[in-house]
Amino acid sequence: MSETINLARRLGSGLPPDLVGFLRTAGKSAGEAGQKLYLVGGVVRDLLLGRSNVDLDLVLEGDAIRLAQELASGLQGKMVAHRRFGTASVQWNGWKVDIATARLESYPHPGALPVVRPGSIETDLSRRDFTINAMAVELAPEHYGLLLDRFGGLNDLRNGLVRVLHELSFIDDATRIWRALRYEQRLGFGLEASTLALLKRDVNMLSTVSGDRIRHELELALKEPEPERVLCRAGELGVLARLHPSLKCDDWLVEKFGRSRETQGGTPGVYLALLCYRLGSEETEQLVSYLRPASPLARTLRDTANLKAKLELLTDPTLAPSAIRSLLDGYSLTALAAAQVATDSPLVRERVDLYLRKLRHVKPSLTGDDLKKLGVPPGPGMKEALQALLQARLDGRVTTRREEEDMVKRRTVSSIGTNCPERR
Ligand code: ATP
Repeated sequence: MSETINLARRLGSGLPPDLVGFLRTAGKSAGEAGQKLYLVGGVVRDLLLGRSNVDLDLVLEGDAIRLAQELASGLQGKMVAHRRFGTASVQWNGWKVDIATARLESYPHPGALPVVRPGSIETDLSRRDFTINAMAVELAPEHYGLLLDRFGGLNDLRNGLVRVLHELSFIDDATRIWRALRYEQRLGFGLEASTLALLKRDVNMLSTVSGDRIRHELELALKEPEPERVLCRAGELGVLARLHPSLKCDDWLVEKFGRSRETQGGTPGVYLALLCYRLGSEETEQLVSYLRPASPLARTLRDTANLKAKLELLTDPTLAPSAIRSLLDGYSLTALAAAQVATDSPLVRERVDLYLRKLRHVKPSLTGDDLKKLGVPPGPGMKEALQALLQARLDGRVTTRREEEDMVKRRTVSSIGTNCPERR
């Protein structure tokens, strides 16, 4: 017989008082309308693990939008509805809670988005990815805090296991493969033996899922505290190769991710650029057209590929600061940050660092208007003069506005000299 577990005390100690108050009120309002309300998913898992999580997801056996509206008005907050999905969020005082109508889902074909109909808490839990994410807590006042655990999630939490609910799970939705690795690595769990076997069997189902959905999962993986753990596990199980056959997670990547974290705080963009750093330009294009990232990220990946070739030029010991600037100008900052970590040359690292900290911000004191006043006519000559000033500033040949003005005057005199027919 399954044990009866009440999490009312854990809810009280694990969540901020505002949210506990919300749960109590929400459970009562739903009860008054004759509907059952539950706390579900990741927050239940994290409450049981003692991990902090304030992303509350509620499921109602009834009209979620109506309940959300009622709760939002009681709190003088805001309700945002997604009518197509029967979901809504209540927002007040900086908090946000999602409420969904309990669903029954079916998959028209592998990898498709599910067809959704209203269902019960049981059907809603049975469409979920893993047992540890398929638990619910009752919020009705008479059963407040009661754990609903139809699939043995609590046991799997205790044993540190990620387990799918049924053997077609990865076929229905192969993004769960990435999700499994993310939870396994984040929580320091293992894949339960038959889940591991199913994952290996179904790894080719990743090709049934759109690049957009895979990118979303990859981005979530890259937001983990140590994303390389997920990537290396993905490498080991043949999942990474489904993104692109040339991607690999090895000692090099682990070292670079660690260094990026220590020196730059490790952002998902830099991690992705590092992951793709060793791809050729054509391979990068293949990955970009598969994942279709938003244009800043696509640019970062392309820049990363192009920048790699430029880094070689930065090893020339005679390079002046102005030459460093012109080599590195125009690349995305994320690509530059990745290159700084990726290079094995201390000199290149130092120069990219100099560029990022200092050189990219340098500009002459004089503007185009100032040059006009000094007699430089608008047109290509003006552009050249500004460029010459910038180079002189970067290389320390001028350091004050006065010196810049003198330089412009000298240039004007010498150009008059060379353009004047009598003096040729
Ligand atoms: P995290 O801590 O990573 O945010 P979470 O459990 O809150 O974890 P979400 O991605 O916010 O994860 O999803 C909320 C819940 O929805 C999950 O706990 C899971 O029950 C369910 N879920 C999400 N994605 C899927 C999926 N692809 N298949 C089945 N269930 C899913």
